[in-house]
Amino acid sequence: MGFQHCSNCKKDITFKTRFKSVFFGYRPIICEECGVEHEVDERYRFVYSLYTVLIPILLVYFSSSVFGITSRFIQVLLVLVFGTFGVMYATSKVKYHKSKHQPIKEGQAKNKSVKKS
Ligand SMILES: [Zn+2]
Repeated sequence: MGFQHCSNCKKDITFKTRFKSVFFGYRPIICEECGVEHEVDERYRFVYSLYTVLIPILLVYFSSSVFGITSRFIQVLLVLVFGTFGVMYATSKVKYHKSKHQPIKEGQAKNKSVKKS
């Protein structure tokens, strides 16, 4: 199963949120409830890239020769269609873990501003 709940507070992470993360190059997801940041597991990034980029291009490359599609417009359209399915598939499979570097909390920010150079 993919990533569906915040690892900190167990709040549901919606499909839409995950989809946007994958679509925009695996952006970190910040939990709406507790603010904990999650990042895509590095080990899987390459695998997901296959689904979202390489496989759609290969599929179009082969189907173009099989069905004799020569229109560049239709080929680009097909890559987008397959790519969308690829992103959706990757979204359901993608794994996240708690980021090592969490967004700066208020207390830490205050300490920083006190310091003089
Ligand atoms: Zn949370």
